[in-house]
Amino acid sequence: MILEKATLPVPQFDQITLEELKQKIESCIAEGQKFLNELTETPESAQEQLAILEHVDTLENNMSEAWGILSHLNAVKNNAETRDVYQALLPGLSEYYTQLGQHTALYQTYQHIHDAPIFNELPAAQQSAIKLALRDFKLSGVALEGEAKKRFAEISARLSQLSSDFSNHVLDATQAYFRPLNEDELAGLSANNIELLKQYGKQHELDQPVATLDFPSYLAIMTHAENRPLREELYKAYVTRASDQSGQTEFDNTALIEEILSLRLEMAKLLGFNNYAKLSLASKMAPSVEAVDEFLRDLAEHARVPAEKEVSELKAIAAEDGISDLQPWDSSYYSEKLKMQQFNLSQEALKPYFPAPKILQGLFSIVNRLYGIQVIERDAPVWHPDAHYFELEDQGQVIGGFYLDLYARQGKRGGAWMSGFRSRMQTSDGLQKPICYMVGNFTPPVGSRPALLSHDEVITLFHEFGHGLHHMLTEVDNIAVAGTHGVAWDAVELPSQFMEFWAWDQESLDVLSEHIDTQESLPAELLKALLDARFFQSGMQTLRQLEFALFDLSIHRANPALNAAQVQDTLNEIREKYAVLPTTDYNRFQNSFSHIFAGGYAAGYYSYKWAEVLASDAFDRFEEEGIFNTETGKQFRQKILAVGGKDTALDAFINFRGREPKIDALLRHQGWTNGSKNA
Ligand SMILES: [Zn+2]
Repeated sequence: MILEKATLPVPQFDQITLEELKQKIESCIAEGQKFLNELTETPESAQEQLAILEHVDTLENNMSEAWGILSHLNAVKNNAETRDVYQALLPGLSEYYTQLGQHTALYQTYQHIHDAPIFNELPAAQQSAIKLALRDFKLSGVALEGEAKKRFAEISARLSQLSSDFSNHVLDATQAYFRPLNEDELAGLSANNIELLKQYGKQHELDQPVATLDFPSYLAIMTHAENRPLREELYKAYVTRASDQSGQTEFDNTALIEEILSLRLEMAKLLGFNNYAKLSLASKMAPSVEAVDEFLRDLAEHARVPAEKEVSELKAIAAEDGISDLQPWDSSYYSEKLKMQQFNLSQEALKPYFPAPKILQGLFSIVNRLYGIQVIERDAPVWHPDAHYFELEDQGQVIGGFYLDLYARQGKRGGAWMSGFRSRMQTSDGLQKPICYMVGNFTPPVGSRPALLSHDEVITLFHEFGHGLHHMLTEVDNIAVAGTHGVAWDAVELPSQFMEFWAWDQESLDVLSEHIDTQESLPAELLKALLDARFFQSGMQTLRQLEFALFDLSIHRANPALNAAQVQDTLNEIREKYAVLPTTDYNRFQNSFSHIFAGGYAAGYYSYKWAEVLASDAFDRFEEEGIFNTETGKQFRQKILAVGGKDTALDAFINFRGREPKIDALLRHQGWTNGSKNA
């Protein structure tokens, strides 16, 4: 298929060299520093003051594009060269942002405008941007002086280094492990999975199947391999990654965890908070640490009874196999068997109905129905043959672009994410359109056939696409509050989790599914089984998420900071209260918990559950009004997706829903309360 060329100015990924990127970032830093050094006092006139703010936005726009490209390559095409360039630039970048965040004259310029009569005449988005900037100046230590100011800068630089090291250790530890498999160890695996493992074998130059810790490989073994010692071996390798319990102690993150926690607390104290969780919450929607803690524990009580029932069912089916001591490496395996028994549903049977190209086509037609937008693939240079570029059109006008890079491979960090590297913004050259990346670690295509996705992967794709729409459907022109910028972190997962509901809808699934060979859509009995199994183990899954969230909150509430043994004790205590399955002594889950040690979720992992309340409640309105109701879709687009950080998360929600959020819909969507509105 010949594609038309991209209409937006896209980066030349086929030509960009690391050296050029490095120079570009260095010149952004130098230009920014020059500007800050020359700004010694707030200018007199409001016009001059506003010009300064505009210049700050331009600097940020240039930096976020250059840095966005480098950090993207560092995440999806990681090698010694990208890593070196990235590492070399980190200290300078951190220093620049610290200088920016603590710049007194710049801060006063924002404050002047905020306090002047002209403020009320500014567009709403700009008013919000100014208010958020003032808050962020305070949280960056603008009020600090002398030694304290210097120390704050040192901590910021060190933390950015530690977070990068943490993430590299996880990637290296994941990639270092591989385990060749004999014929008799393949029992239970589907032909498709065996082909996948053979493909991994080829990557390791072996003519036999190989198990790796890449998620598709790990999941295939844990879910299907009959060989129990093999599952145990792989489980152990996975949960000891980057820890003292693994064979490769050079990737051990234990000391990093201690240092990160200690520096975060020190930073919080410099700003006048008595723990890091309070600092984290200062910019979030949730009112207080206590409120979050109560929210999580309350939700855990709702999940407990269903979870206990689910575990007893799991134990019962394992017992039929003669297993009386259900272990962590048994749970996925017997869950799959249980699902088969209860619903006659297996992930493997579904996969042929979910070829990736068809899923994408279906997803695009769903967002077209909901928001009236069209997605068109266009020709643009990419960093890897797996990556593709698309543009979003609204009534014939291109309004944004995105890249999809879906499959797991060597050199790519785990997980799935959306990252906006260019924001909507009014520039001197006109309106700049937003562009983002959406990245997954899905099961890659095997041989020449398109990738066959599991339903979980379909859900993940919808999730990331929800984030992408938030970035691209923004109608705000101010970079500080466009798209996901300026949106409280604990509300950012609203559009993403909201979008997941369409991966669970009967009508959507008809559009999404098409058998790879027969082209038939999902047969009625499989569709029914999938929908019936929707709440399968939702209690256990919720408790697991809550365990992570409570652990994150607890270790960031501690003062004094915890050492590694205390971190482990905290995790053990939470597990004792909330886990329904046993864990092993060697489990070092925390050592690869990149969300909180290398991502933006520190004392913020609860955000997933917090925003799920919002997403569920927002979807509840669609259930009332019709899930493809174009008017409701338009409202959601206008009141939630378009506004970015212009409105507070609560205001935006109320504008859409007509009232404050309620938890009822979430409980119903877990299958814990009756009254399904739209079966
Ligand atoms: Zn997300």
